[in-house]
Amino acid sequence: MVTTHNLGFPRIGAKRELKFGLERYWKGESSRDELKALGAQLRARHWDQQKGLDLAPVGDFAFYDQVLDMSFTLGNLPARVQGFHGDKLDNYFRVARGRSAAGAEEHAACCGGVAAGEMTKWFDTNYHYIVPEFTADTQFNLDFSRLSGQLREAQALGVKVKPVIIGPLTYLWLGKAKDDSDKLALLPRLMAVYRALLSHLNAVGVEWVQIDEPILVTELEPAWREAFASAYEGFEVRSVKLLLATYFGQLKENLDLACSLPVDGLHIDAINARDEVARAAQKLPAQSVLSVGAINGRNIWKTDLNAALEWLAPLAQQLGERLWIAPSCSLLHVPVDLASEAKLDAEIRSWLAFALQKLDELQVLAAALNGRRDQVADALAANAAAIAARRNSPRVNNPAVKAAIARIDAALGKRQHAYAERAPKQSAILNLPAYPTTTIGSFPQTADIRHARSEHKAGRLDDAGYQVAMRREIERSVREQEALGLDVLVHGEAERNDMVEYFGEQLNGYAFSQFGWVQSYGSRCVKPPILFGDISRPQAMTVAWITYAQSLTNKPMKGMLTGPVTILNWSFVRDDQPRSVSCYQLALAIREEVLDLEKAGVRVIQIDEAALREGLPLRRAQWGEYLRWAVESFRIAANGVQDETQIHTHMCYSEFNDIIASIADMDADVITIETSRSDMELLDAFDNFRYPNEIGPGVYDIHSPNIPTQEHIVALMQKAAERVPAGRLWVNPDCGLKTRQWAEVIPALTNMVAAAKVLRSQAQ
Ligand code: GLN
Ligand code: ZN
Repeated sequence: MVTTHNLGFPRIGAKRELKFGLERYWKGESSRDELKALGAQLRARHWDQQKGLDLAPVGDFAFYDQVLDMSFTLGNLPARVQGFHGDKLDNYFRVARGRSAAGAEEHAACCGGVAAGEMTKWFDTNYHYIVPEFTADTQFNLDFSRLSGQLREAQALGVKVKPVIIGPLTYLWLGKAKDDSDKLALLPRLMAVYRALLSHLNAVGVEWVQIDEPILVTELEPAWREAFASAYEGFEVRSVKLLLATYFGQLKENLDLACSLPVDGLHIDAINARDEVARAAQKLPAQSVLSVGAINGRNIWKTDLNAALEWLAPLAQQLGERLWIAPSCSLLHVPVDLASEAKLDAEIRSWLAFALQKLDELQVLAAALNGRRDQVADALAANAAAIAARRNSPRVNNPAVKAAIARIDAALGKRQHAYAERAPKQSAILNLPAYPTTTIGSFPQTADIRHARSEHKAGRLDDAGYQVAMRREIERSVREQEALGLDVLVHGEAERNDMVEYFGEQLNGYAFSQFGWVQSYGSRCVKPPILFGDISRPQAMTVAWITYAQSLTNKPMKGMLTGPVTILNWSFVRDDQPRSVSCYQLALAIREEVLDLEKAGVRVIQIDEAALREGLPLRRAQWGEYLRWAVESFRIAANGVQDETQIHTHMCYSEFNDIIASIADMDADVITIETSRSDMELLDAFDNFRYPNEIGPGVYDIHSPNIPTQEHIVALMQKAAERVPAGRLWVNPDCGLKTRQWAEVIPALTNMVAAAKVLRSQAQ
């Protein structure tokens, strides 16, 4: 008999109950007990929904983040929140967000305001965790209360429990040594706490523990590989069984290591590492469990169950009881329930599976593998029909798009001439001063804008009325920018709710869910659009708005588009073709839009690639391949224009050092980037690499309500001018202004424009 289990369940709730509960609590609209009760209620519901499994995860629920939970379990709290007098949950929120609920800050006087923990991406997902903080002196101290509480709840409900913890090496690797000390030196101290944790788990009747070590799918330095062996030997004497869980990639050179560690089972992500399953089955010790992640935990497509059975059945024969099956990783990365999607096109819905449907699929696989194939014959036949329908659907396959992809050649991504020849032609037309000023695209999304959008969506405001409302907002943005004296204007993006959704909604090949929310961090969720078919653009998407905006002013108006790589990286993507092909398709669609804008007389076109860096593979060895097609996609989208048309791109991060050459290869005339928060330190990349075109290093941190002073901006730009020739510098904010208020934006941009004038006068 194969065993079924799950690595983790989405905790936000099918209707985002946790999000709303958290936000109510933080605003002081509900009590701590109410929030805790909501947590218990969600856990109970989620275990109930997993009751068909042989083992269900416990400890995967987190009020904010599972890594932060682990920091509390290990007693690793930053010094600045130690000695907090209030409730532990409030202290937890203080680390997560710098503050807790309004009503819980009665200790503010004695415990002060604190800096929030740093947040960063969880491997190559769009989930963000709170980075553990270490120093050479960090001491650990087991706090078993969270896990023991959740185990008690689960056991009372009759759940067959499998607690989930982050393994010691991954925990250290995810953290940051604030004093630059060697994190690995903490391992002996940390192991003592892990050993205590395991014996506590044993004492409360736990048999299996899932210990997550996803760093095994990355390229590890020798010291880390050696640390694995020594750390896990430290677990040798124990009474609970350990399932070592890896996911998000192939183990490659770490496969032998993973198979040789003294644990009782190994989980492999068979979506990414199918080819390693058989090898692991061979290498694992004779009594070890092999858990196979046969269902994609990162995507929303139905599994081809018949195909999966074809390779799982022989494995079940070979391994017998030792075979476990599960989703490839925690289901945290997919929405909860497809059943809520009443408005989704029925055909497309029939191709999809969210978390609950994925667990159903697991049951079907288990039944078939456990000799009950006839009981699931209908389910298997229905699955086969859905898979075939999707494969053959004319909505998925568009021969014209496939032909266009086949015609792509190197010439498509090339500008007419090199930057040095284009630049004078552009400046002859644009006639810009030195240190030209511009913004990144969006202006504040006011209550009026949001109201008009929701009324339009609900059908209470007709298209004409909506257009009037949006034109009013565009006009307001243009007038404000003219009054401010900016040089290159934007229309303000009032009509866009989201920079990816806006384009997805107008392209063929995209679908949108109503409740397909996925946690991004804390209470923040995103609803990635679903890229299901060959991409085509039935009509222009932005031209009418931009030409309207241009008609209001004599200053150059920037056309504003989202780039193909960013659209791809923020969507659920197809699993039936490589990401690169989907990206090229998006590139061709955006290219058509670029050319239409140019034809309409738009002289400056910005193509945002905010998510280019996010797509980098976990293994550095694979970066080159990704960057090759990502950069080529951008070039295809952007570079069909005349020399005279100025192409901008924007990226809102600036860890550029390792990809700067690829960014230069994109060959945009101007790139605007985030730099203000680091005082231009991020321009270090430009010390060793001469970026050949123009750069706008952000001088206004749009994440903060602070208004930068004119002097501060001048000083930042002077620093920038040490690295980039002044003649190629632009003056602009770090990113779009949609989350700010006009009352903040106007003084900030006033200072920015004044700073540019100072810089110009100094340059003379
Ligand atoms: N043009 C977009 C805006 O200004 C860019 C957003 C982003 O880079 N995330 O809102
Ligand atoms: Zn940005």
